[in-house]
Amino acid sequence: MFTTAKLMKKTKEKEHYLKEIYRLEANGQSISVSGLSSVFGISKSSVSNMVKKLVAMELLNSAPYKAIELTLEGRELARSIVAKHRLIELFLVEVMGFDPENVHEIAEEIEHIDSPPFFRKVKQMLGQRDIDPHGSPIPDVNF
Ligand SMILES: [Zn+2]
Repeated sequence: MFTTAKLMKKTKEKEHYLKEIYRLEANGQSISVSGLSSVFGISKSSVSNMVKKLVAMELLNSAPYKAIELTLEGRELARSIVAKHRLIELFLVEVMGFDPENVHEIAEEIEHIDSPPFFRKVKQMLGQRDIDPHGSPIPDVNF
Protein backbone atom coordinates (compact mmCIF):
# COMPACT_ATOMS: atom_id res chain seq x y z
CA MET A 1 0.00 0.00 0.00
CA PHE A 2 1.18 3.47 -0.86
CA THR A 3 1.27 5.95 1.96
CA THR A 4 2.11 9.58 1.28
CA ALA A 5 5.29 9.25 3.32
CA LYS A 6 6.42 6.26 1.32
CA LEU A 7 5.70 8.01 -1.96
CA MET A 8 7.54 11.10 -0.72
CA LYS A 9 10.56 8.98 0.20
CA LYS A 10 10.66 7.49 -3.29
CA THR A 11 10.37 10.92 -4.89
CA LYS A 12 13.19 12.21 -2.71
CA GLU A 13 15.43 9.31 -3.64
CA LYS A 14 14.85 9.81 -7.36
CA GLU A 15 15.39 13.53 -7.07
CA HIS A 16 18.64 13.00 -5.19
CA TYR A 17 19.90 10.84 -8.04
CA LEU A 18 18.98 13.43 -10.64
CA LYS A 19 20.55 16.22 -8.62
CA GLU A 20 23.79 14.30 -8.09
CA ILE A 21 24.02 13.33 -11.77
CA TYR A 22 23.37 16.97 -12.72
CA ARG A 23 26.17 18.08 -10.38
CA LEU A 24 28.62 15.50 -11.79
CA GLU A 25 27.71 16.50 -15.36
CA ALA A 26 28.25 20.17 -14.50
CA ASN A 27 31.74 19.22 -13.23
CA GLY A 28 32.43 17.49 -16.54
CA GLN A 29 32.56 14.04 -14.94
CA SER A 30 31.25 10.98 -16.71
CA ILE A 31 28.61 9.06 -14.81
CA SER A 32 28.57 5.32 -14.18
CA VAL A 33 26.84 2.88 -11.84
CA SER A 34 30.08 2.30 -9.94
CA GLY A 35 30.75 6.04 -9.70
CA LEU A 36 27.28 6.67 -8.25
CA SER A 37 27.63 3.71 -5.95
CA SER A 38 30.72 5.25 -4.36
CA VAL A 39 29.17 8.76 -4.24
CA PHE A 40 26.06 7.49 -2.44
CA GLY A 41 27.84 4.78 -0.46
CA ILE A 42 25.36 2.11 -1.54
CA SER A 43 25.64 -1.11 -3.53
CA LYS A 44 25.96 -1.17 -7.31
CA SER A 45 22.83 -3.29 -7.57
CA SER A 46 20.75 -0.67 -5.72
CA VAL A 47 22.14 2.05 -7.99
CA SER A 48 21.49 -0.07 -11.04
CA ASN A 49 17.86 -0.65 -9.98
CA MET A 50 17.26 3.07 -9.52
CA VAL A 51 18.96 3.89 -12.84
CA LYS A 52 16.60 1.43 -14.54
CA LYS A 53 13.59 3.15 -12.97
CA LEU A 54 14.82 6.57 -14.06
CA VAL A 55 15.45 5.28 -17.59
CA ALA A 56 11.89 3.88 -17.68
CA MET A 57 10.63 7.33 -16.60
CA GLU A 58 12.64 8.83 -19.50
CA LEU A 59 14.71 10.93 -17.12
CA LEU A 60 18.01 9.16 -17.87
CA ASN A 61 19.67 7.53 -20.87
CA SER A 62 21.80 4.49 -20.22
CA ALA A 63 23.32 1.87 -22.51
CA PRO A 64 25.97 -0.82 -21.96
CA TYR A 65 29.51 0.62 -21.92
CA LYS A 66 28.21 4.16 -22.25
CA ALA A 67 28.08 6.91 -19.64
CA ILE A 68 24.73 7.54 -17.95
CA GLU A 69 23.19 10.82 -19.10
CA LEU A 70 20.24 12.97 -18.15
CA THR A 71 17.57 13.26 -20.85
CA LEU A 72 16.31 16.76 -21.64
CA GLU A 73 13.40 16.18 -19.30
CA GLY A 74 15.69 14.78 -16.60
CA ARG A 75 18.01 17.75 -16.87
CA GLU A 76 15.10 20.17 -16.61
CA LEU A 77 13.82 18.43 -13.48
CA ALA A 78 17.32 18.35 -11.95
CA ARG A 79 17.80 22.07 -12.66
CA SER A 80 14.55 22.89 -10.94
CA ILE A 81 15.49 20.85 -7.84
CA VAL A 82 18.88 22.58 -7.69
CA ALA A 83 17.19 25.97 -8.13
CA LYS A 84 14.71 25.19 -5.32
CA HIS A 85 17.55 24.08 -3.02
CA ARG A 86 19.63 27.20 -3.61
CA LEU A 87 16.68 29.62 -3.44
CA ILE A 88 15.65 28.12 -0.12
CA GLU A 89 19.19 28.42 1.24
CA LEU A 90 19.29 32.06 0.21
CA PHE A 91 15.83 32.67 1.67
CA LEU A 92 16.80 31.10 4.99
CA VAL A 93 19.89 33.31 5.25
CA GLU A 94 18.60 36.59 3.81
CA VAL A 95 15.01 36.62 5.01
CA MET A 96 15.00 34.36 8.06
CA GLY A 97 18.45 35.22 9.39
CA PHE A 98 19.86 31.70 9.49
CA ASP A 99 23.60 31.12 9.57
CA PRO A 100 24.77 29.88 6.11
CA GLU A 101 26.30 26.85 7.83
CA ASN A 102 22.89 25.70 9.01
CA VAL A 103 20.73 25.92 5.90
CA HIS A 104 21.77 22.96 3.76
CA GLU A 105 19.92 20.25 5.72
CA ILE A 106 16.70 22.28 5.75
CA ALA A 107 16.95 22.96 2.00
CA GLU A 108 17.47 19.22 1.39
CA GLU A 109 13.94 18.68 2.72
CA ILE A 110 12.14 21.70 1.27
CA GLU A 111 13.53 21.17 -2.27
CA HIS A 112 11.16 18.19 -2.69
CA ILE A 113 7.97 20.14 -2.08
CA ASP A 114 5.87 20.27 -5.23
CA SER A 115 4.36 23.74 -5.07
CA PRO A 116 5.15 26.16 -7.88
CA PRO A 117 3.30 29.05 -6.15
CA PHE A 118 5.47 28.58 -3.06
CA PHE A 119 8.73 28.72 -5.02
CA ARG A 120 7.49 31.60 -7.20
CA LYS A 121 6.85 33.55 -4.01
CA VAL A 122 10.26 32.70 -2.53
CA LYS A 123 11.95 33.80 -5.76
CA GLN A 124 9.92 36.99 -5.89
CA MET A 125 10.78 37.86 -2.29
CA LEU A 126 14.50 37.49 -3.02
CA GLY A 127 14.41 39.85 -6.02
CA GLN A 128 17.03 39.42 -8.73
CA ARG A 129 19.48 37.38 -6.68
CA ASP A 130 21.20 34.55 -8.54
CA ILE A 131 23.96 33.33 -6.21
CA ASP A 132 23.27 31.13 -3.19
CA PRO A 133 24.90 31.68 0.24
CA HIS A 134 27.67 29.21 -0.66
CA GLY A 135 28.57 31.05 -3.87
CA SER A 136 26.86 28.66 -6.31
CA PRO A 137 24.74 30.05 -9.16
CA ILE A 138 20.98 29.58 -8.85
CA PRO A 139 19.60 28.17 -12.15
CA ASP A 140 16.96 30.48 -13.61
CA VAL A 141 13.79 28.40 -13.48
CA ASN A 142 10.21 29.57 -14.04
CA PHE A 143 8.20 27.74 -11.41
ZN1 LIG B 1 22.91 22.95 0.05
